[in-house]
Amino acid sequence: MNKILLLFCMIGYFQSCISGEMKAKSSSDSLITQPLEYMERIPKGAQILMDVYPDQIKGYSNGMLLIINGDKIQYDDKKEKGIIEMLDNSDIEDMFCMQYNMNGTPEYLSDAGRSRCEQLFKAMYGRCESEARKRLVQVEWFGKSIPFTSVNGAADSLRIVAHRLKQMPQYSKYLTNASTFYWRKVRGANRQSAHSYGIAIDVNTQYSNYWLWEYKGAKETDRIGYTNRIPEEIVRVFEEHGFIWGGRWYHFDTMHFEFRPELLR
Ligand SMILES: [Zn+2]
Repeated sequence: MNKILLLFCMIGYFQSCISGEMKAKSSSDSLITQPLEYMERIPKGAQILMDVYPDQIKGYSNGMLLIINGDKIQYDDKKEKGIIEMLDNSDIEDMFCMQYNMNGTPEYLSDAGRSRCEQLFKAMYGRCESEARKRLVQVEWFGKSIPFTSVNGAADSLRIVAHRLKQMPQYSKYLTNASTFYWRKVRGANRQSAHSYGIAIDVNTQYSNYWLWEYKGAKETDRIGYTNRIPEEIVRVFEEHGFIWGGRWYHFDTMHFEFRPELLR
């Protein structure tokens, strides 16, 4: 082989290497775009749940949320619902239909967080009282030890809230005598209370207001006023650590804080 022929062979070799690299790059590009296209089909609410509860929710496929325990939960039942049915028979999509609003007095029927897909909450926190109890740990709370679920880092978040609120001793009176876990239905309704899952804390009832205490016998769709005595600073601390506040609901429950990071995104 003469030198010129050798040079052509070498140029050809390098060109094939470069084009091979480009081919590899373009095939990996198409590999990257495929999952992105797939992710775009995941409803925003499902994606948020996967992000905030990564230990419990492992994916989404064909309209179903996939839970680590093997449960598959329908995201959207495609039913048109009034407020009562949305509370009594919430699918996952319904949980996101109201915006959790941190400013001003709650608007008529604005209750972000009162809709809970029971199938999802039971899959994560326990299907019955004994299952939920097994997941509880104790949290030190203003001179008392209270049970809270260890699932999804809820108890750890409550410990941080306690630590921060202790730096504000002027508010202690609002926070003592708290109650948390109680496997029960919501007062006057046939749906499971958030207290059943160990994700909710009621602070001192002495300084709290609850819509059904103020308006005895009122129905969900009645026009009611708003009352609250819980300082905003307390609420902000809870919200910064994944808890929503019942005082942001039209059906106000100002003692009630609930671990629902999906609504604070
Ligand atoms: Zn409560």
